[in-house]
Amino acid sequence: MVTKGKKLYEGKAKILYETDNPDLLIQYFKDEATAFNAQKKGVIREKGVMNNTISTRLFGLLEEEGIKTHFVEKLGDREMLVKRLEIIPVEVVVRNMVAGSLARRLGLEEGRPLEEVVVEFYYKSDELGDPMINTYHIRAFGFAEDEEVESMVTSALRVNDILKKFLDERGILLVDFKLEYGRHHGEILLGDEITPDGCRLWDRETLERLDKDRFRRDLGKIEEAYEEVLRKVMN
Ligand code: UDP
Repeated sequence: MVTKGKKLYEGKAKILYETDNPDLLIQYFKDEATAFNAQKKGVIREKGVMNNTISTRLFGLLEEEGIKTHFVEKLGDREMLVKRLEIIPVEVVVRNMVAGSLARRLGLEEGRPLEEVVVEFYYKSDELGDPMINTYHIRAFGFAEDEEVESMVTSALRVNDILKKFLDERGILLVDFKLEYGRHHGEILLGDEITPDGCRLWDRETLERLDKDRFRRDLGKIEEAYEEVLRKVMN
């Protein structure tokens, strides 16, 4: 049993609390949603509860497959116990199909499968709107060591293989997703969350979007989409 301590950090969709164990934090999932670097704000009813359950299931799956993550256990509806990380300020995006910023940047149609998996890095900075960077920037600015980048990429590609297969078996296409990593006692662990907030998930048959694009693009039926992902993931 851990005791919840003071609030350490409040982000757009989650709050981190300290515990009586300096190595462990409580990650609390909120219903708030933001898009376009927080220019658009809203609430997705019960998102926190759904995302905590989805993330718990997917982190559990990844741990079973040998991926090192910050996940310890689900504590309640909206809370999970996680290992404290020193976050690496680099977001790792993995893409299986063209969508979102890749479609915009290269003038491509969304939904085209990629012949090779694409990995991208973004610098975590709200003020700058998370600009895209590459390994030279990561090295030049000391965001992470070369071996750390290597271990993030190796992990991210394995996470992609595992999640793609798991979701495919449940009728969901894993189009792309964003991961965050951090350091914990000299190890690189997968942190943050794995939910429809940070993944593009399309229904394999209808290509209907079952993720935060419904909020970003005002497509409606947002709660229903998250509920469907929850149902399929728990199946
Ligand atoms: N993503 C995210 N947080 C960000 C940016 C992107 O979780 O700050 C996720 C997003 O949900 C998608 C993937 O990363 O699954 C790729 O996003 P993209 O670069 O296409 O950006 P977008 O079109 O959402 O601006």
